[in-house]
Amino acid sequence: MCVCVFVRGAYFMRLGCEVLINIRRVNSSIYVSHTSTQPPHTTHTSLNKYDDIIMHLSSSSSVTSPSWFSLSSFSSKTTPRTRTRTNATSTSSSSPSTINERKGQPIKPGQSYPAKEHCSNCGLCDTSLISYVKDACAFLGPGMSRIEKLEEKVHGKRRNTETDELRLGVLFNSDTKDNTNNSSQSIFYAKKKQPVEKAQWTGIVTSVALEMLRTKTVDCVVAVGSGEADARNPEPKLCFTEEDILACRGVKPSLSPNLKVFAEIETNPEIKNVLYIGVGCSVVALREVEQYLGLDNLYVLGTNCADNGRTDGFYKFVNNATDKPDEVLHYEFMPDYKVHLKMRDGSYEKIPYFSLPAKELSSGVIAESCKSCFDYVNGLADLVVGYMGVDYDESIPMNLHPQYVTVRNERGQKMIDLIKNDLQITPSTTRGDRKPFVLQTVISDDEAYLGRGPEKGAPRFVGNLIAWVLNKVGPKGKEFGMYSLDYHTIRNYLYVNRIYGKERAKEHIPSYAMKIVKEYEGKNGDISKRLEL
Ligand code: FAD
Ligand code: SF4
Ligand code: SF4
Repeated sequence: MCVCVFVRGAYFMRLGCEVLINIRRVNSSIYVSHTSTQPPHTTHTSLNKYDDIIMHLSSSSSVTSPSWFSLSSFSSKTTPRTRTRTNATSTSSSSPSTINERKGQPIKPGQSYPAKEHCSNCGLCDTSLISYVKDACAFLGPGMSRIEKLEEKVHGKRRNTETDELRLGVLFNSDTKDNTNNSSQSIFYAKKKQPVEKAQWTGIVTSVALEMLRTKTVDCVVAVGSGEADARNPEPKLCFTEEDILACRGVKPSLSPNLKVFAEIETNPEIKNVLYIGVGCSVVALREVEQYLGLDNLYVLGTNCADNGRTDGFYKFVNNATDKPDEVLHYEFMPDYKVHLKMRDGSYEKIPYFSLPAKELSSGVIAESCKSCFDYVNGLADLVVGYMGVDYDESIPMNLHPQYVTVRNERGQKMIDLIKNDLQITPSTTRGDRKPFVLQTVISDDEAYLGRGPEKGAPRFVGNLIAWVLNKVGPKGKEFGMYSLDYHTIRNYLYVNRIYGKERAKEHIPSYAMKIVKEYEGKNGDISKRLEL
């Protein structure tokens, strides 16, 4: 009720529109994107032609590996390890199972990636694993709906779409009949008693990685360090020491080609047990090729992720958001309806969403891949750490604030158990009703997408006031996480239908996401109607 009055009230009508456009990014780390030149309503037929590119890439023996691709240099130092598939039935049409058998040539700088503008730069195509791209890429063929089939393989069961698992993915300790009672064992809040200095939040991710290395559970960790030109840019790293892992603390706010590190892993016979840290789309591709890597154990520590983008989008965002763009290390869209910009000196600038120049930022910030993504919860990771469902308390600094943890299977439980004595764990909480917020956000956001949004951000004091009101009346805790998830699911459903076309959309969108969309259709088909606009 309050929400509707608030949103529809005469004075706030226009402002509320803008509010909702920006709320959509709550809990998402907007991080980057490339500038979209794609007008609304354009259907890409190009995605259906990726076979040509792949054939070219895999058969072109004249193509030499680019200098930055390290395979050849590793080969000269170590005997290439011939890893064979051990435990899997191939779904690949070509099924080359060892690195030596693969003819695929990594993408050269300047070449187009098979998924073209929808490529999330996961790194698979920067290695000979490109041979599997057709069967692994989260944006080609069955795309994101691969998750449903893979859940069974990875976790031993599919998500129960009658329970919270519909949205949150497979939960380790869930009761299949009623996981709302038991999910607290698999979804909880946790913070490090002694926070890791310079971590993104309290450093749970870094701590799990350190402990897995210390206990020799793994030989190395795939994590994301800093680029040479600008430390804010991601550079995937293979970490063998505690110093290597500590150097990867904190989020580098853009798409990171993590899987390219497997070129190095494959050529080093010492590496048998690996911890991979990464976002959902890269985990989808990794799970599809896992069987060909010949590892003894692969552990996956995922982060939640929505609305990521390319590095130029990061620069566009900070240039528009603050007058000190060079000082911004990273930023996160927080559940207090403010974007928190972390500055190099450790201070934060907090800007209410509603005061951002929404129109300017509506393109060129979020990557096209992320508008086609249905894996905010990183459904194929063993353990997931984020903040999407925390009961956010703005009086607690981020580096002391509880984080949001999801355990999906036994491996994930083993991983979090390694540091459980260092954690303060509390049950997850939930309150409020997300539904009216979701629909209003979708409508306002879609109006902006169609070029009908407000021109400017609200003055700071008005923005702060709106944020304060929404904090009082809006959803909190797990309900807030689900608000954000539902909004992203519907926004991306509209995007994929418009841009990929209906047939490809049907193939790409997982059935769990379709079930969420249907919940909001109402008697009047509120969502489908927007596709006609
Ligand atoms: P730390 O201990 O500081 O470790 C951070 C880890 O992140 C490092 O190990 C590093 O390898 C990895 N990393 C850094 N940059 C990247 C990158 N570009 N891509 C992949 N991995 C990287 N949580 C939400 O709830 N909602 C979101 O929308 C959301 N978006 C995110 C987007 C990205 C790109 C990333 C990386 C994380 C996102 N998170 C999101 C998770 C959240 O920001 C924190 O990463 C998480 O809470 C862990 O905090 P920590 O203190 O334990 O991390
Ligand atoms: Fe290749 Fe990954 Fe891009 Fe797909 S998303 S085209 S697998 S690099
Ligand atoms: Fe990948 Fe989805 Fe994150 Fe984009 S939002 S980087 S597609 S997991």
